[in-house]
Amino acid sequence: MNKNAKIYVAGHRGLVGSALVRSLKQGGYSNLLTATSKELDLRDQAAVRAFFERERPDHVFLAAAKVGGILANNDFPADFIYQNLMIEANVIESARLAGVEKLLFLGSTCIYPKMAPQPLKEEYLLTAPLEPTNEWYAVAKIAGIKLCQAYQRQYGCKYISAMPTNLYGPEDNFDLESSHVMPALIRKFHEARVRGAPTVTVWGTGKPLREFLHVDDCAAACLFLMDHYEGEEIVNIGVGEDLSIAALAGLVKQAVGFEGEIVFDTDKPDGTPRKLVDVSRINGLGWQARIPLEEGIASTYRWFLANGE
Ligand code: GDP
Repeated sequence: MNKNAKIYVAGHRGLVGSALVRSLKQGGYSNLLTATSKELDLRDQAAVRAFFERERPDHVFLAAAKVGGILANNDFPADFIYQNLMIEANVIESARLAGVEKLLFLGSTCIYPKMAPQPLKEEYLLTAPLEPTNEWYAVAKIAGIKLCQAYQRQYGCKYISAMPTNLYGPEDNFDLESSHVMPALIRKFHEARVRGAPTVTVWGTGKPLREFLHVDDCAAACLFLMDHYEGEEIVNIGVGEDLSIAALAGLVKQAVGFEGEIVFDTDKPDGTPRKLVDVSRINGLGWQARIPLEEGIASTYRWFLANGE
C-alpha cells in the first residue's frame, strides 16, 4: 500500500478494526477512511453503494461484522446470519463497482468443520459439518470467502480472505452475556477480586482447547497480507499454539490477582472441542505472531482497568 492511498477500514470501532486503524496510523498511512454505523449502515445496499461511489477508496479492510460469543450466537441466529451476509455482499459488490484495488475480508476460524483434524489447515474448509452453536455466523463468513473468490475469478478483483483465530485485546466486548471467553474471564476475575468473592464461575468443563492471538498481531498480519498476498486461497492468522480454557482461566486469575477458587458450570456449552490453526501458510509468506499470551493478557487487563470498567 502506498502511504497516501485511501484506505477504508469497515468496522473501525470493533476489536479488529480499531487495531487496524492503530497499526495503519503507526505505519504512516494518513489517508484513512472510516464511518460509524450511524453514518453508514453497511446492511443498507443503496447507502453502501453511494458511500463507495463518493469516497472511492483504493484499499478496503472488511472488519465489520455482527459478532459475539457462544451464547449470543445461539440466542440470535437470524441476526448473525442476516447481518453478516448483507454487510459482506454490500461492501464487496460496491468495492468492485467503485474500482477498489484490493480488499481484505476478515473471516474466523469457526468456518472450519467441528471435527476437522487439528491444527486446522486452510483446505479443510467445507469438508464436513460445522459446530452447531455458531453455524449461522460461520455460514455467513463462508459466503464472504466465496464472494472474494468468485470476484477474483469473474472480475479479476484482488479480494483476499484471512481467518484469524480467537482474538483478544483493547476495545474488546467485555459484556458477560455476549462476549468471548477472554474478556469475560478478565471481567469476572476482576469483579470477584474487587468484591472479595470466594469463587469465579467459568462456563463449560474447562477442557476445550483454544488459541488466542492479540489483536495487534492480527492487525500486523492483515497489513502484511494486503502488501504480500494475492491468492484465492484463504490464509489463517494465528500463533500455532493452544491451551485449555481451564489453563486460560488460571493465567487470567494470576494476571488479575484473584485468590479464590475457580468453579466450572457444566450446564453451559463447551462449543467445539479444539480450535487451533495451522499457520504454515502465513509463516511461509514471512509473517509470525510476536505478542506472548501472558504479556497480552496483562496489557489487556490494564486497558480494561483504564477504559473498560
Ligand atoms: P468459541 O471459541 O466460539 O467457542 O467462543 P467463546 O470464546 O465464547 O467460548 C470459548 C470457550 O470458553 C467455550 O468452551 C466456553 O464455554 C468457554 N467459557 C468459559 N467461560 C466463559 C465465559 O464466561 N464466557 C464465554 N463466552 N465463554 C466462556
